[in-house]
Amino acid sequence: MQRTEVLIIGGGITGAGIARDLACRGAEVVLVEGSDFSNGATGRCHGMLHSGARYAVNDPRSAAECAAENTILKRIANFCIEDTGGLFVSLKNDDLDYADRFLSSCKKTGVAAKEITVQEALKKEPMLSREIVRAFEVPDASVDPFLLTLGNIESAREANGIALNYHSVRRFEIDGGVIDRVIVENLRNGSVEIYKPEIVVNASGAWANKIASLANLSIGMTLDKGSMVVINGRLTNGLINRLRKPSNGDIIVPSYSSSIIGTTSIQVDSPLENKATEEEVDFLIRETAMMIPNIAISRAVRAYAGIRPLCGSDRSTGREISRTFQLIDHSEHGIENFISVIGGKLTTYRLMAEKVSDMVASKLGLSGSCRTAIDPLLSVAKENIHAKIASSIASRIVRKSCLFADEVIQRCTGELRGMEVVCSCEEVLRGEVIYWCNHQDVKELSDLMRRTRAGMGYCQGGLCIFGLLSAMIDNSDRDPMELLVRFIKEREKGVEPVLFRGQLKEEFFKEHLINGVYHLDAYSRGDYEKDLES
Ligand SMILES: Cc1cc2nc3c(=O)[nH]c(=O)nc-3n(C[C@H](O)[C@H](O)[C@H](O)COP(=O)(O)OP(=O)(O)OC[C@H]3O[C@@H](n4cnc5c(N)ncnc54)[C@H](O)[C@@H]3O)c2cc1C
Repeated sequence: MQRTEVLIIGGGITGAGIARDLACRGAEVVLVEGSDFSNGATGRCHGMLHSGARYAVNDPRSAAECAAENTILKRIANFCIEDTGGLFVSLKNDDLDYADRFLSSCKKTGVAAKEITVQEALKKEPMLSREIVRAFEVPDASVDPFLLTLGNIESAREANGIALNYHSVRRFEIDGGVIDRVIVENLRNGSVEIYKPEIVVNASGAWANKIASLANLSIGMTLDKGSMVVINGRLTNGLINRLRKPSNGDIIVPSYSSSIIGTTSIQVDSPLENKATEEEVDFLIRETAMMIPNIAISRAVRAYAGIRPLCGSDRSTGREISRTFQLIDHSEHGIENFISVIGGKLTTYRLMAEKVSDMVASKLGLSGSCRTAIDPLLSVAKENIHAKIASSIASRIVRKSCLFADEVIQRCTGELRGMEVVCSCEEVLRGEVIYWCNHQDVKELSDLMRRTRAGMGYCQGGLCIFGLLSAMIDNSDRDPMELLVRFIKEREKGVEPVLFRGQLKEEFFKEHLINGVYHLDAYSRGDYEKDLES
């Protein structure tokens, strides 16, 4: 049994942010995540660092929170933010009065918005529709949610916090109105671990009600599915938003070598209902093509969906529910040492973490104050080693691997085939893959993908997967076929709704490769050996 001051449940951005904040204040922290870090809503979001403008008219509290946090995150976490800026554009038939309300609401909530002429907008964004009638500049940015989460995890670890992925909370033992023990299953080896925490923080996002039910409690929240489509190629320089009351299909986010269009809003009953549908894909392409017409003729690479854990359950549509957050001290419900946090945005995670940590610190009597708005999230890698490698490659690796960049670059330059490109869509080197394959957190091929971006490009792992697999099974007893089947099943979920034009042809080719050459379908059916013999 392990004692700890704080046990945090959930390794999305909220849990990771809380772990960093509390560890830096000197608390003993253990974070447990049932899957990989950022595999919940965090890794399935739109990747937009909000300026607050989207919420200025209808959700002023959220707008003000986003505006303040946008400035802070650009300062403390610039390694994972591309400060592209954004535009809000009205089209011919949009409510033009909304644009005036938008500008005055931005002013009231502290969002920096400035009207520019249509000609200026077209110069900034040549692919914009010629149908736009008004345009406003805002400080939106593109953020990598995987990196932001891993940055918080590593920062917590640097401050002696413990963060464990593939550790799922199964049960609480409650004694005299406190959670006395938390029973956790280690999914790497099936063993049971027991923690005796002074405080338990429930930061499990869409699973928050399930975790609360372990203490016989329930939380008023709404689960709201949002879908996005990844379009091959960067069609815009910055983020493009439709200037109207927040609705579906409003946003285009440039991200690495692609453009992500979204989102939708559909209430669901379970966090597992996270599959984008063909109807959503068609709708999103049609709607966002009104702002950037080339979307209609571009290649959709994959679709994905995440579940928003929204506060409250009293509104008819997810779009009407505020994007602010709520802290719940369950001592009001008879459990003294249990806190839940729900709602919020990726953009406001730091603020949420600060408020949760203040509550925990006052319960524990900790004196350290919050420094997360001041201290950079990670120290930047040293320059000297990068002299051995082309600067464009080095800066890409530094951006992706931050704290570990020196060691990753050493693998690339020191290993025999370290400089070979294993994923040509995302230009990932074998040395990067070898480094991460040997990292304690990496269990599945998709964990490797989240850390290197290998397999995230337009071939969706179809061509590079075998190179990744060979690195993964080198010096390990992992079963390659099992790893491959799990990876392909997960990827198929995302590719299925976009099977038309270029992606359909690509999938036919991959189908022949994977089932015709490697007989993976037979492996899944359980008659692999028989199939090979015949
Ligand atoms: C479609 C969509 C688009 C979005 N776009 C944006 C955007 O562009 N910008 C923005 O700022 N915000 C955006 N958001 C909001 C943002 O993604 C979320 O607010 C944020 O990611 C929530 O993070 P979280 O850590 O609270 O939840 P999650 O990321 O869901 O993390 C919860 C974690 O708890 C773990 N867990 C569950 N049960 C257990 C258990 N028993 N034991 C251990 N661990 C467990 C889960 O595996 C999961 O990893 C979007 C959300 C969605 C759904």
